[in-house]
Amino acid sequence: MNQSAILWSIALLLSMTDAQAQSASSARSNALHERLLTLDTHLDTPALLARPGWSILDRHDADNDLSQVDYPRMVRGGLDGGFWVIFTPQGPRTQEATARARDSALLTASRIREMVARHSDRFELALNASDALRIAAAGRRVVYMSIENGYPLAGDPSLLRTFHALGVRLFGPVHTRNNDLADSSTDTVREWQGLSPLGKQFVAEANRLGIVLDASHASDEVLEQMLELSKTPVLLSHSGCKDVYAHPRNVGDALLRKLAAGGGVIQMNSLGAYLLPTADNPQRRQALAAVNERYGTPDTLSADKVRELAAARKRVEAQYPAARASLDDFMKHLLHALEVVGPQHVGIGADWDGGGGVEGLRDVADLPKITQRLLAAGYSEQDVAAVWSGNVLRVLRAAEDHAARTPQP
Ligand SMILES: [Zn+2]
Repeated sequence: MNQSAILWSIALLLSMTDAQAQSASSARSNALHERLLTLDTHLDTPALLARPGWSILDRHDADNDLSQVDYPRMVRGGLDGGFWVIFTPQGPRTQEATARARDSALLTASRIREMVARHSDRFELALNASDALRIAAAGRRVVYMSIENGYPLAGDPSLLRTFHALGVRLFGPVHTRNNDLADSSTDTVREWQGLSPLGKQFVAEANRLGIVLDASHASDEVLEQMLELSKTPVLLSHSGCKDVYAHPRNVGDALLRKLAAGGGVIQMNSLGAYLLPTADNPQRRQALAAVNERYGTPDTLSADKVRELAAARKRVEAQYPAARASLDDFMKHLLHALEVVGPQHVGIGADWDGGGGVEGLRDVADLPKITQRLLAAGYSEQDVAAVWSGNVLRVLRAAEDHAARTPQP
């Protein structure tokens, strides 16, 4: 800004009432949010694509549909796209169960590709870092693919090649329990003291293919070992700060600094139970478990059944009210990470449709609020652009460049 522009802005600000100034700043923030390339690195929405009659093109309501991402809300929230997750819950580590998990993961991958193919005027599959900007500029939403939990890879590194060919560009080896590849941050025992020998092979294979490694859900030792072994920067696709709330799912400052020193990025999670301590109420827990058992997973329910399930859950919430995390709690983690590692190493991965979302940040339609808060905290437009996509794309580009330099068999 030149001097006269600054003087003009000051004069304008002085002549404004508080309300006018506020609405001018929110207009500036909304315009910036709309202009930026915005990517969220953890969209669990592919699980919903299996619901009978559910369409990504319809506008749903988080309250009675229990969903947080669809095309209309992406447009409303200025979300250009992100990493659409192939998630598999950890099951028994037997050959049969692993084969079933593999088939289900392949089915989820094909559902994502089917969504893109069916609505090719609205969505496009992104395979390289440079694709995101081009796709968004063409007015379509960006669909990168990622894997959460390496369980379905059945201990076979060649399957990672198959998933890479299907479009997967981000890979997290483990979920809430230990598996054959790595220790989980939330399991009760340390089985491998980090990555298993097979997990180390997967790290090498991911590097060779140009897939970014994701240490969210993994134990601290796994992250340490990934940082040592990986030839390219590591991502935490949806994690929080242990120094704000000491939950094992979160990562401490010292480790975050190491991640950043290797060029890596933490993408901020919004799952309430990882943001602040929640008092355990056994009655509430049992009542919710009973409701969930009665209906089963919403991923296979009709719209009517999902509405019933949502209403039943709401009745339990009303009967046993619990403190809920808010946008302020989410911002505490985000601003802390920004302070510790700086705006080149922080992004957004709010775990939409996977348990994320807090009061004031209920679905992706609320995302402009994050931009508003970042500007209000004094971050520059460049910083905010880095947080919303620049950082994750830099990490993806580094993985691609490494793969391009690596001899492929
Ligand atoms: Zn997760």
